[in-house]
Amino acid sequence: MNFDPFLEHFRNTPLEPWLTSIGPDLEAGLSISRYGDLPRWLESLATLPAIEADTVDLDKDTVTAQGQATDEQQQQIEQALRGLHPWRKGPYQVFDTFIDTEWRSDWKWQRLAPHITPLAGRTVLDVGCGSGYHCWRMRGAGAELVVGIDPTPLFIVQFQALQHFIRDQRVGVLPLGIEQLPSGLRAFDTVFSMGILYHRRSPIDHLLQLRDALRPGGELVLETLIIEGGPNDCLVPEGRYSRMGNVWFLPSTDLLELWLRKTGFRNVRTVDVTRTSTDEQRRTDWMQFHSLAQFLDPDTSGLTIEGYPAPTRAILLAEAP
Ligand code: SAH
Repeated sequence: MNFDPFLEHFRNTPLEPWLTSIGPDLEAGLSISRYGDLPRWLESLATLPAIEADTVDLDKDTVTAQGQATDEQQQQIEQALRGLHPWRKGPYQVFDTFIDTEWRSDWKWQRLAPHITPLAGRTVLDVGCGSGYHCWRMRGAGAELVVGIDPTPLFIVQFQALQHFIRDQRVGVLPLGIEQLPSGLRAFDTVFSMGILYHRRSPIDHLLQLRDALRPGGELVLETLIIEGGPNDCLVPEGRYSRMGNVWFLPSTDLLELWLRKTGFRNVRTVDVTRTSTDEQRRTDWMQFHSLAQFLDPDTSGLTIEGYPAPTRAILLAEAP
């Protein structure tokens, strides 16, 4: 996978210092010895036909690349994309194939878009971007450069499948975790952390890392699971939460706002709180494993199968000092 045409855009920008350390990290992030399924995914990717899209739309609910394809080429596209199951974040339309992903990621975008500082001309970072659905939407909203990072190789390959047709080198998804951001970068105009904080063992350190990636005055868009309650309330699930391992801290929005102020952010505000519905996260033909409906208590509405409050997500905005 060649990241050079994308990384070229880091030159002569505040991102340039990152180029000195990024090479080995990118290589490790796609190492075949670490990720046994990777060769199979890369094979699927390689079977995408070498044709161009003539319509690309990054500004609608469905991220779209369409054009002329023969029946055989259309079949190759469908098969290659199916080889990259499970598709979690989307939706996407690739020629005649509609990828109905587990998540209606467009709904999250609709909830945040009216509130954030307009992205036109901005350099943005999407931490834990999955297949890069929101990265495309950020570019569609006018961002100058969109850097997505995610350490899960399947999602990198899914992004590349879209990039194969969209061909926009001002959007890139790199196989990296947040811990691989160089410290003191202070480069991005906007940083998104969505669906990440509750997976971090040290949420305060996560907020400090996000602050460290932002230029002074830059905007943080933070989306995470929350509980109802006041400034002293936080749920630390014992064992799993909604069948997810690795869930550590679910604060109230009051507490989350306090954490942000305490880590130096200014102008902290909660702009949306929404209970996740089984229409927003559900099993589909493109994600055939269990999904939210199977993670909720079938008898008691409002509870997860473990007896915790059902998933509710908040979007907060804040300004880096
Ligand atoms: N931001 C997307 C996806 C959230 S799912 C959205 O809101 O829809 C959480 C993502 O975090 C997964 O894609 C997972 O691969 C990624 N992730 C896991 N560990 C990470 C780390 N250390 N740094 C950055 N992302 C990580």
